[in-house]
Amino acid sequence: MIKKIGLLTSGGDSPGMNACIRAVVRTALYHQIEVIGFIRGYEGLIDNQFMTLQHAQVSGIIHKGGTILKTARSDRFRTEAGLTQAINTLQQHALGGLIVIGGDGSFRGAIELSKRTQLPILGCAGTIDNDLIGTDFTIGYDTAINTALDAIDKIRDTAESHDRVFIIEMMGRDAGLIALRSAIAGGAEALLIPELHHDLEDLITKIKSWRSNKGSRIIVVSEGDEVGGAYKLAQTIKPHCAGLDIKVSILGHIQRGGTPTCMERVNASIVGHHAVLELMNGKQGCLVGIIDKTVTLTPFEKAVKHIDQVDERLEELIRILSH
Ligand code: ATP
Repeated sequence: MIKKIGLLTSGGDSPGMNACIRAVVRTALYHQIEVIGFIRGYEGLIDNQFMTLQHAQVSGIIHKGGTILKTARSDRFRTEAGLTQAINTLQQHALGGLIVIGGDGSFRGAIELSKRTQLPILGCAGTIDNDLIGTDFTIGYDTAINTALDAIDKIRDTAESHDRVFIIEMMGRDAGLIALRSAIAGGAEALLIPELHHDLEDLITKIKSWRSNKGSRIIVVSEGDEVGGAYKLAQTIKPHCAGLDIKVSILGHIQRGGTPTCMERVNASIVGHHAVLELMNGKQGCLVGIIDKTVTLTPFEKAVKHIDQVDERLEELIRILSH
């Protein structure tokens, strides 16, 4: 019988984390399980900074971006001393389980904890990148792609009015999925992402061959693409595209914020709810995700292996639909 669990959000924040926190807390309390939330991810675990989470603490948060528990990237947690301190905190609270909401780095941290303590740990995928194995959509991804799409739509207005070429940079150091989806939905003309190799000469040829009556000319690039981001791309192609007005727009952190979409809130609620149930069932060391509409447990070791391939036919789709 679990009497008390810990909860934390770690890594980059993502819209929907609050909905997940709410689901964990409300499900746990429903089953008479006490919940404490550590503040600023693994930093809070090291420093024993926490708050007791009752119904009131998670009231009115389902629609809010960010995380009420705050989050952090903790270098101390990567050290043996930090891990030892974190384990001391966990033991001090006599927890029956820990739920970590975060991305692949956070689950690597959870793996390190699991090597040093018997405490059952489960994870919910909270990252805008959607790059984890074990869930179709990570918490934050749907909102991020809709934010990115909204930006493309707005930039298109000015691009069309001035006959400009716009290079729009999306977040994604290793994963280009935000760029890929928003590029398709935004009707972009070209896409550059880390998962696909690009020939810049081909891109320049393509830009030069765009028909003169083309309404929009939008190139979407991930920050982590081999070309080095939007400014580098603009620098590279400008000398070859005389007569074209090429502008750059970096979306940056707006992709992390905002009101979580309906899908985000539903998915976050489902995985948060099930994370508690699975802890009660004795499960540990897994990501609780949704695959093909089914709640699925995937061992952390497998979940953290990056999805580094995309369906190349989607790039072809962009090429054909934008010609
Ligand atoms: P996002 O996808 O938004 O970047 P993330 O969870 O991948 O989220 P990271 O900064 O990579 O974000 O990881 C979060 C934290 O997890 C790190 O700051 C660090 O404290 C911990 N962590 C990551 N990798 C390890 C590791 N190998 N050992 C111990 N702790 C780790």
